[in-house]
Amino acid sequence: MSDEESGSSNVRPLRIHEMIEDEVIDVEYGLTPKPFNQFSPSMVGYCKRQMYNRKFNLTSMDRYVKGILHAGTVNHFWLEHHLPEMVQDRAVETEKRVRVEVPVDDKDFDLYVYGEADVVDSKGFVYDHKFTADVSYVSDEPKQKDYRKVNMYIYGLSDVHTGQLEYVTRDGKFQDASENVVTHTFGFDEETFNATVENMKEVAEKVRIAKMQGTEHINPFDKCESDCFFCEKEVLRPEVKEKLGRNKPDGNLNDDE
Ligand code: SF4
Repeated sequence: MSDEESGSSNVRPLRIHEMIEDEVIDVEYGLTPKPFNQFSPSMVGYCKRQMYNRKFNLTSMDRYVKGILHAGTVNHFWLEHHLPEMVQDRAVETEKRVRVEVPVDDKDFDLYVYGEADVVDSKGFVYDHKFTADVSYVSDEPKQKDYRKVNMYIYGLSDVHTGQLEYVTRDGKFQDASENVVTHTFGFDEETFNATVENMKEVAEKVRIAKMQGTEHINPFDKCESDCFFCEKEVLRPEVKEKLGRNKPDGNLNDDE
């Protein structure tokens, strides 16, 4: 079609992939201010260092992880709008609100968990549906961060007794389900819950102090010996690096901080 036929030589087609790049991949997620003692369910699954990072949004997210998260968001949108009508033997709610207080005996504050569970049904199950790069890593047991999160859902949702984590390979093929899907189903685990609450308490306390002192950018929890993925891939946001650099006597940056 000539320019004349298409109406105008000045009008160009949209470049949709650039819009996705700008809005999904090339975007730094902002920090929504929340009280020091309020956590999202996905935050509580992490170790103290990574929980603190997320509380103050100190790190940049890997491009690949952003892609997986976006695929998950799109899938959740589909679930939200279609799943309830597809299930015949129980009532199903998607994006179920979780608003729960976790009482704390030995501090002058309590803890609060605010978020949304993917799916809850009227038979007492809560579901977390996740895309992952490779299900072989979770074939024996779920990732701890996911397990703690779903355990928190079980605690926080009345009439829910069991959680199910479903991992699906994010390759878009949707073939041979036995090789590409792993599920773990479990009841409330009090020991894990108590350990999670201990971490949250410590992080809340440090967050409160950091807010008072204006030292939010300094993570008080050092990297530990576990040598896991999250520290390996930890990249501080440029403005955090800059602040840390300014605080050093010689102005040098150290990525390990
Ligand atoms: S290695 Fe890092 S991410 Fe892993 S548990 Fe230790 S502090 Fe947390």
